[in-house]
Order: sequence, then C-alpha cells, then structure tokens
Amino acid sequence: MVDESVDLGRRGFLRGRRRAEPAPLRPPWSRMDRFTDLCTRCGACADSCPEGIVRRGDGGFPEIDFRQGECSFCGACADSCPEPVFDRTAARPWTLAARIGPSCLAINRVVCRSCRDACPESAIRFALAPGGVAVPTVEDGACTGCGACLAACPADAVTLHPGPETTHAL
Ligand code: SF4
Ligand code: SF4
Ligand code: SF4
Repeated sequence: MVDESVDLGRRGFLRGRRRAEPAPLRPPWSRMDRFTDLCTRCGACADSCPEGIVRRGDGGFPEIDFRQGECSFCGACADSCPEPVFDRTAARPWTLAARIGPSCLAINRVVCRSCRDACPESAIRFALAPGGVAVPTVEDGACTGCGACLAACPADAVTLHPGPETTHAL
C-alpha cells in the first residue's frame, strides 16, 4: 500500500524530493486537485500568512511548511488570493490528521508530552503502555491538522496524513 504521509520533519527536508516524496501540502481551503492549474504563483498567500508557514515550493507554487509553525486557520491566505484557488465554502479547511511514528520518545520509554502540551484541540491523549511510560495517540475526530504538534516534537515523530479530498463547489 502506498504511504501517503506528508513528511515535513527535518529529516524529510534534508532528504529533498528525489525519492518518491509525497505531494506537497497546499494552504487550507485550496482545491488540492486543481491547484497547479488555478494558481498563478503570485505569492499573495505566502505574503499574507501571519504564521510564516506558507512558502514558495517547487516551481514557485505555495506549500505549507509546518517546521515554521502551525496553522491558525485565520483564512488570510485564502482571502488574499486573486484567483479561484480557494474554496472557503468547503466543509473543512483540509483533511489532514496527525500520526505519531516509532521515533516517538515516549514509545521508546522516554517521558515526553510535548505534542500534547502543544495541541490546541486536546486531540492527543496518553495512556500507560507496558513498561510504565505513557504513549500518545491522536484522536482523528478532534485533530484539525494544524501542525502544532509537529513543530513541538523533539524526535521528528509526527507526520500529517491527508484524508479523503474535500468536495468543492465548482
Ligand atoms: S489560514 Fe492563516 S495561518 Fe493558516 S496558512 Fe493560511 S494565512 Fe497561514
Ligand atoms: S512530542 Fe514527539 S516524542 Fe514527545 S510524546 Fe509527542 S510524538 Fe512522542
Ligand atoms: S495537528 Fe494540531 S490538532 Fe492535530 S494533534 Fe497535532 S496539534 Fe493537535
């Protein structure tokens, strides 16, 4: 099965995109399926983001970089765009949800709760595992994919996974 994870950790950055890299993550509310057709690469969304997480990526198209911070879902990127790239009527800004991988310190029996402390949605819970150290799990229903936990994790253990594409009007 193809791994569709969006690895935006430092190791992923250092590897570059030569090998089977996942599709870049576009700003929230954007029409992911038609993005490169509709976007003129003007840079307005990147310039408008108060968190500094929208950067020019491959080909000059905007990409989200969670290493710089989290998305507050302020909508500035969508509102600044002069083209029909964004759909603010979409049911959700995007379908991302966090996953925690095997490099997690807690899974390796080192006490850490940085992701839980960073999560504004209280979507990360800890439960005792064999060995006595509590390990994290993400509640998909509560996770908004904001990326706060990714930047907070000292072990590059967090990735964001896209779910089914949101249906857009036109
Ligand atoms: S919604 Fe706001 S914080 Fe999130 S990417 Fe757009 S401008 Fe940046
Ligand atoms: S912050 Fe990272 S290392 Fe720490 S518990 Fe969360 S996922 Fe594991
Ligand atoms: S992506 Fe955001 S909402 Fe989801 S678990 Fe991480 S910090 Fe919480």
